Amino acid sequence: MRIAVADIRAVHTYESETALDVKNVLGAPPDYVEFNSPIQARVKATISGDDILVSGKAAVKATLCCGKCLEKYEWEIKADFSQAVEASIETLDLVPEIRESLLVELPVRFICKETCKGICEKCGINKNVSECGCSTHTEYARWDILKKMKFK
Ligand SMILES: [Zn+2]
Ligand SMILES: [Zn+2]
Repeated sequence: MRIAVADIRAVHTYESETALDVKNVLGAPPDYVEFNSPIQARVKATISGDDILVSGKAAVKATLCCGKCLEKYEWEIKADFSQAVEASIETLDLVPEIRESLLVELPVRFICKETCKGICEKCGINKNVSECGCSTHTEYARWDILKKMKFK
């Protein structure tokens, strides 16, 4: 997303909305992320003294894989950005800013929902979908092992 600074100077507030190709902005995604839409970017820019004040929003739809239940789920990654750039440049390139802002919003660990119960450690069943009869005392079993260990 490149904007000629002359275009910003020509109007009081420059506004633009564009769809950007994901690969051009973010590069090839890691294999646990699939992007399902172009990046929708909305930008507002005004000249203020020696600076261009830029603010905007970027959003992209993605399919992620839950780290707990291993199911795929849809997610919209949304980011806000704002920056001030020296107005002496000729062209304002917003791709680096949009890339940074979206990467920051990518969750470190993908979880489909806060209440995700994950999969059963014993039988592998997705506990969001159904319950299994496996003993749920694995946590306690671990504590038993710890209790048997002697600390000095
Ligand atoms: Zn999940
Ligand atoms: Zn189970």
